[in-house]
Amino acid sequence: MNSYRIALLPGDGIGPECMDATRVVLDRLIAESTDLHLSFTSHDAGADYYRRTGETITRDALDDCVAANAVLLSAIGLPDVRQPDGTEVQPTMMVGLRRALNVHSAVRPVKLYPGAPCALKDTGPGIDFVVIRENLEGLFASFGGGAKVGNEVATDTLVVTRKGTSQVADFAFRLAQRRNGRPSDGKKMVTCVDKANVFRSLAFFREVFFDVAASYPDIDSSAVYVDAMSLYMVQNPWDFDVLVMENQFGDILSDLGAGIVGGLGLGPSGEIGEDHALFQPSHGTAPQLAGKNVANPLATILSAAMMLDWLGDRHNDNACLEAAVAVESAVAQILAEGDVLTPDLGGSASTTDVAQTVADRLAVASAR
Ligand code: ATP
Repeated sequence: MNSYRIALLPGDGIGPECMDATRVVLDRLIAESTDLHLSFTSHDAGADYYRRTGETITRDALDDCVAANAVLLSAIGLPDVRQPDGTEVQPTMMVGLRRALNVHSAVRPVKLYPGAPCALKDTGPGIDFVVIRENLEGLFASFGGGAKVGNEVATDTLVVTRKGTSQVADFAFRLAQRRNGRPSDGKKMVTCVDKANVFRSLAFFREVFFDVAASYPDIDSSAVYVDAMSLYMVQNPWDFDVLVMENQFGDILSDLGAGIVGGLGLGPSGEIGEDHALFQPSHGTAPQLAGKNVANPLATILSAAMMLDWLGDRHNDNACLEAAVAVESAVAQILAEGDVLTPDLGGSASTTDVAQTVADRLAVASAR
């Protein structure tokens, strides 16, 4: 029987409330399953911690994240907490965490649940695709570097390596194998999103992508320019299954995806490497909502479901896989019912009401 230790980073702003709500759901799962064994360590880290101590995360907390089976983070950063150079602490902490965990692939599902507010008039046969963002290189490789020449010129360098691109492309094809294909016809496909017509680095990204694609003859592979992809995401998103792209393109298109299918309050994410994984909602800390019990906790709860799915797949553990399905089904159920939703989704329920209702729907599912 497997047991897993999860390192929790509740963070700043609405982060702790969304984390507490997610714990309500996870604790209910643990209480009702004899086979699911999760334990938690929680660490104070982020912008408020930096304000109090001068560091974003302690060495011990970072070591604990590396030693844990998975990391669940809520949201980090406060706009009024700045480092001496004027930048926010969030990028420093997140890039440090990503590098320490070596999580090369960021996964953002873009899935339209019945009842969720969709920004598109036409939803065709449904929306269910995944944005995979290369997470350690691309334009973000320049983080902490870059050059400023006097007061006139500044540069950052976009880095693409064969190793980094192969890892993320391979991850994309393995994910496509586990999925049901695109909504329009069930075809399993991975699309490389780039700007290969302009940049040598991104032409190389495409070249390496097709080298990896050759090992997956059962999955359709294609390439689309990033500007065209932004159009297709709003005109015919049902024609896509798995998209893979450079770091900065993924940063932008994944928020566009979240906006299409109900907003940041519904967008989960996972950052996955060979040995570690970190899960967190797509949204930030929304400081103006903090402490009011109105934040939508569903993105964090769905991120916990992705974590359970990853643990289940990695350790061949059915209890985790079933728990992941139970959480996602409970969330889908409350969205379809529509009467216990937070204000961002047009409801008037509190964060704690939503958490309790998701947990109760799990209970109903397990009593059947
Ligand atoms: P960051 O730069 O830290 O990612 P951001 O600028 O993207 O942050 P967020 O904090 O994610 O901004 O939120 C932007 C707005 O979206 C918030 O001000 C809030 O109105 C809304 N929002 C985000 N997350 C939630 C949530 N969980 N529940 C309700 N509203 C939310």
